Formats: sequence, structure tokens, C-alpha cells
Amino acid sequence: MVSRGACDRPRGVGGGRDTGGVRRAVKVRLYPDPAQEALFAQTAGAARWVFNTGLAVRRDAWQDDQISVSTNDLMAMLPLWKEEFGWLREVSDVALQQSLRNLDVAYGNFFRACRGEGRARFPRFKTRNSRVAFRLTRNGFRVKDGQFYVAKNDQPVTFRDKGGYEIPADATSVTISKDAAGRWHASFLVDDVVPLPHQQAGEMRVVGVDLGIKTLAVTSDGDEFENPKHFDKHARRLAKYQRMMSRRKPAPGQRASNNYRKAQHKAGRVHARIADARRDTIHQTTTALARRYDIVCIEDLNVAGMVKNKKLARAISDAGFGEFRRQLEYKTTWYGTKLIVLDRWHPSSRLCHVCGWKNSELRLSDRQWTCRDCGTLHDRDLNAAKVIASAGLADYACGGDIRPQHPVPLDGTGNGSGNSRETGNNPTRALARAAA
Ligand SMILES: [Zn+2]
Repeated sequence: MVSRGACDRPRGVGGGRDTGGVRRAVKVRLYPDPAQEALFAQTAGAARWVFNTGLAVRRDAWQDDQISVSTNDLMAMLPLWKEEFGWLREVSDVALQQSLRNLDVAYGNFFRACRGEGRARFPRFKTRNSRVAFRLTRNGFRVKDGQFYVAKNDQPVTFRDKGGYEIPADATSVTISKDAAGRWHASFLVDDVVPLPHQQAGEMRVVGVDLGIKTLAVTSDGDEFENPKHFDKHARRLAKYQRMMSRRKPAPGQRASNNYRKAQHKAGRVHARIADARRDTIHQTTTALARRYDIVCIEDLNVAGMVKNKKLARAISDAGFGEFRRQLEYKTTWYGTKLIVLDRWHPSSRLCHVCGWKNSELRLSDRQWTCRDCGTLHDRDLNAAKVIASAGLADYACGGDIRPQHPVPLDGTGNGSGNSRETGNNPTRALARAAA
């Protein structure tokens, strides 16, 4: 049993989810030719049919005869379905098998919810409005000389990658999907990757990050990452299409009119553009932080709670704090950077980073303030970032050994242990260290 000392606050260390290995995803935009696009749509449709058929078989067998049908049983039915429905043979078998595995995951989540873990509902049938997507594993696709090929098609699929990553040759699976704007993307997943080395050598770099609404992030080094406020720019256009949609909304049981679909498509495009621009900004910021520093400290903002405050709600969901944290978590793992998430009740913006005096009268509108104890004039966000940095470092020092975590030597010559989890984002280890 671990004793609870002053420092072993279990919420203190980020990246607590143990996925059983480090995973890395690379997403690229696809530009399929007409034949490939038709194949994608057909594959997604077939995958949906197989999911629904599998679900119906499994549900009915239990409801009618209390027979439990396993995923392996369903896999064995696949050849029979393909014999009966010839069009299933025109798409990759791998996509259909993966669809049954997805069904298995959905059932697994439901059973866990029945035991009180999580809140997943009983698996639902996929409709025409469900996400158009399918997944392929190693047998269903190929990455050769930087080119991407899918089963049942000879030509490489054209792609563009804004993030500057190549398609990983060692990807274990890929999910191909279509968004609301009609664009295709491929998300490649790599299992158990060795974290990438940092860009620069030198001593341990620690940074505190204050997330805000006016500026997306301010660091303790004084860097500001602007928040582009994309939503305001597009909000009026979006509202226009949404009004159109509500005017043309089909009556229950009726098929949607062409005009309704058109407005829906346009609204989808605006949504996608907003989401893209926001993701880009957050990606640039989180990548820069994870690459430049050895320790990144942030506050655990209670985003769900803050969004309940209507005045702040739109600005916050626009700023994407939750997405920021999510990206920072996986990117710090890639780069072997330590992420420290501070208690959400830590009064970072109220404390003077020089002397520690607490300004209880600070209001949200005060952009600057002067410490009454030491007389320092503070920029609100920069001071908060500095407080976060020192509090994070103290938290880390409490957790045990301070040393840079470069699993791969910075000169890139030797072969590193690749074991970022050893000293990295593992709350159990932090607890054990604190107790030792
Ligand atoms: Zn002071």
C-alpha cells in the first residue's frame, strides 16, 4: 500500500491513461481519383452493412434463443454473406473483418458499462447518416516508397500532409473516412513507437503554459500563441445555412429535399473549415511546446465546468482547451517530454511569481497588476505562466528524480532505450517514487 505523503497527489501527473504502449497517429488528406472514391464509398457501405448484419444476428440470437454469438462465429459467417451478396466481394475483406471487430469493441464497451465502468450504450445500428469510414489493417493497404496503396486498387492514392510527417511505413492500421464537407482523410496508426528526439541539445528546459481566451497560450518564456477566433469569422455564414436547414427540415418519416441536403452540405463545409483552422493552430502550438521543452507544465482546467458559464462558453469551446490538452498529452509522449498537469484549484494568476504574495482582489478584467509585497509589475498571463512553471517543477521534484528524459541521445547516434514510460507519464510510478 502506498502511503499518501504531501506530494503524491495522484492527479498531478498527466497522461495517466495506460494504453499498453505508445501509439502515434498521422492523419493526411486524401485526393482519391474517381475509381478510388467509388471504391472507398462502396467499402464504407459494405463495412456498415456487415456491422449492422452482425449486430442483428448477435442481438436476435440472444433475444430469441439466448444463444451467445461470438465475433469468431460472425467471422465464419462472412464467406456465406459474400456468397449471397456478390457486391461484398468487390471490397477488401479486411475492411469487413475490421467492421466485425468494431462491433466486438462496441459490445465490450456495453458490457463494461453494465458492470458500472463507463457509460456505453447497447451497440446501435449504423444509418445513412453515420460516419462514412472503414479501417484496414496490414493486409488491406501498403506504404511503398512513400506511396499509399489500398487493396482492390492498383494506383497509389494521392495525399497531402500539412503536418510535415511522412506516411509511416510501419503503420499497423489505417482508417479512411469522409467528413461532412465530402473530403477524405486517412489516419495511420503506429504501435509502440520510440519517442522522437528533441530538436536541440542543452540543459533541461522547463516551461509553464497559461491557457487563455484572448491569447490561446502564453508561456513562461514570454512566447504568445495567438488564438485566431475562427468561430466569429465564420459564425454568421454558419448561422445562415443553419436557418436554411431549419426552414427546409423534412417532416418525420419524409426524405430530405435536395435544398435541405444542399444547405446541410454547405453548413458542413463551414464547420469543417472552422474545425481545420482551430486544429491547425492548436497543432502548431502543442508541437512547438513538446519539441522545445523537457518539461511542460499546464493547469488542469475544468473545461466542462467552465463551459457551463454561458458567457465564456463559446470563447472557450472556440479556443479548444480540451483539444489542446489531448494533443499535448500524446505529443509529449512522442517527444519524450514530461507533461505536468497542476491542480485546477491552483491560484496561478493570483500569485506573484517573484515573492509568492497572493493578490486576492485580482479580477478577470485586470490584464496587469502590481505586487504589493515586492512591487513587481506583472502582465497577468505571463506571471501566471511563470507561477505554473515553478509550481510544476516543484510538483515534479516532489515526484522523484529530476533528469531530462531523452530516451534517444540528442546527437541521434546511439540507440536509445526507447523507454519513455519508465520515467515518463506514469502516475503509478510517480506515486511509488513519492512513497520511496
Ligand atoms: Zn511580489
